[in-house]
Amino acid sequence: MQQNNLPEGAGRDRDGGPGLTALRYQADLLQTLNEKLTDSMDIFSKFFEMSGNAYAYYNFKTDYFEAIGDFEPLFGTSVTKPSDVELLPEYVREEEYREAMELLRVEDQPGGECVREIRIRENRKWIEGHALALFDDNGELLEKYVCFRDITRFKIQNDELSYLACYDGLTGLLNRNFFIQKLNTLVQKASEERVNVSVAMIDIDSFKRINDSIGLILGDELLQMVGQFFLSLNTERTIVGRFGTDVFVAAIYDPGGSDTVENLLSTIRLRLSKPFILSNKDEIFLTMTVGVASYPEASGSGFDVLQKAEICIYAAKDTDKGGVRYFDDQMMRQFVSNFALEKRLQDAIVSKHFMLYYQPQYNTRTGKLRGCEALIRWRDEEGRFISPSDFIPIAEKSGGIISIGKWVIRNAINSCRKWKRLYGFDGIVSINISAIQMKKDNFIDELLEELRTEKVDPENLEIEITESVFIENFDDVIEKMRSLRQFGLRVSLDDFGTGFSSLSYLKNLPINTLKIDKSFIDTVISDDTTGIITESIVNMVKRLGLETIAEGVEDERQMEFLKKIDCDNIQGFLLGKPMPQEDFEKLLMKD
Ligand code: C2E
Ligand code: CA
Ligand code: CA
Repeated sequence: MQQNNLPEGAGRDRDGGPGLTALRYQADLLQTLNEKLTDSMDIFSKFFEMSGNAYAYYNFKTDYFEAIGDFEPLFGTSVTKPSDVELLPEYVREEEYREAMELLRVEDQPGGECVREIRIRENRKWIEGHALALFDDNGELLEKYVCFRDITRFKIQNDELSYLACYDGLTGLLNRNFFIQKLNTLVQKASEERVNVSVAMIDIDSFKRINDSIGLILGDELLQMVGQFFLSLNTERTIVGRFGTDVFVAAIYDPGGSDTVENLLSTIRLRLSKPFILSNKDEIFLTMTVGVASYPEASGSGFDVLQKAEICIYAAKDTDKGGVRYFDDQMMRQFVSNFALEKRLQDAIVSKHFMLYYQPQYNTRTGKLRGCEALIRWRDEEGRFISPSDFIPIAEKSGGIISIGKWVIRNAINSCRKWKRLYGFDGIVSINISAIQMKKDNFIDELLEELRTEKVDPENLEIEITESVFIENFDDVIEKMRSLRQFGLRVSLDDFGTGFSSLSYLKNLPINTLKIDKSFIDTVISDDTTGIITESIVNMVKRLGLETIAEGVEDERQMEFLKKIDCDNIQGFLLGKPMPQEDFEKLLMKD
């Protein structure tokens, strides 16, 4: 190669061979190359050192060993030249580093390459060794390269991740996935040993409200305390997990002795009889609703049993908040049919299979149209009507009522504008508002926005609410009713006579109109007492300056009676059933 590097004709002897000059030139060149090589060796060793890894090289032909990098931080001992053929620092050769020895016997591995993780116990390090062995054509071992890397940090992170993948960070209980995995194993074992597994799902009542009132930080503290308590329920046969923010679940394998659902429940009850005391000294009393289902009675699959326990909670929340509900078939059937309806309802919300019908209301004295009540109709895919009395309660539970409610508001207001433009309509359109809608913070803003967009007078809109809106947050609802009225909307109390029905509290309610429930009108003729009660309601309500509407008026005699006692308005099949928009518009044309 040197020959080629010589400049043209440089220092040749007369006979053409390399002369002294040429040899000197070659020597210089070699030295330069050597220096360059040493330089790059230096560079590479710097890099090797910086990498924090340790490298070992062994040449079996020349018996040459080279260790690069710092072995001390990795193995706790610095590497010394090995005296034997095995390329091993002494400490790695000891019995406990068998793994490392294996690694360095890489030539036994097919392909001559392998990776191992080694745990160094003294300094609690995890080291990954990667070894490569090269053979000659005869299969003789030539060289071996080994690289040791500190993977402790990665291992710890990995451990943390796998902890997080299995346990709940806040409480240390099993998380949802891990619990289900464990439950499935228990159920599998139970099926082999022909025993039961009971599952109790436990939900803290009104946790959201508590959380809102104490704030997120104390809320977490409270959950931690509750979690701590549940953690203490773990036994050899009982596993406990956290399923959602405020939902916990326990599974008992082969219940018996002290490990029974009943014992578990009484331990919980005992704990709940005392308050949870927060760091700010707040004392919080909790109640919990529990659903219980068992393998194999409720289902043959662990996951199904869990779901059934969850359904028991839903069922209990309806009737028996703070109580316990055990799985039974009857409850399940009811749930399934509601669930099927709920599913169809979801589809209907998406595909807007709804219509608004309008039922006219007339002034009793003048016989003129007062306005109408907008009533929703749902026609399913087969064209059958499903009653709002059936699907509204389900939509209220699932939250679907919010989008349904918005749809009703938009359409009713839209019709109101159209009627004003086409028929000079200036009456009142009443819409039914569910307690769930009323609870939403932006309810009034959204309503006003809709009125503004459609340029409809708030005076033309009436909000019908039932007494159920007062159950949860009386002050908030009253506040909202007041501001509705301040914005010029009308507020009407629907179904009067079916709720608390106390006349004395009426005077404190910011309402314009009172709707007397159909149940009164039904017997107003046949039953004297109802007649008297209805009359006194009307009198009293008028004295409070409120307007009255009688609902469900079906015959002439009822109407005559209502006229006689001076009830202001009448709504009922007698004067008009709820009808599609086109039919109601025919009425407006005549009016
Ligand atoms: P509601 O607000 O008390 O509505 C009056 C119900 O009585 C309507 O039933 C109406 O069709 C019916 N009705 C009116 N006059 C007579 C009559 O003379 N005889 C008889 N037998 N019934 C009469 P509908 O439309 O089935 O609605 C039932 C309930 O569903 C409503 O009771 C209301 O609570 C709820 N609902 C209807 N539409 C909506 C809505 O858009 N939003 C909300 N949140 N609830 C609604
Ligand atoms: Ca109504
Ligand atoms: Ca009503």
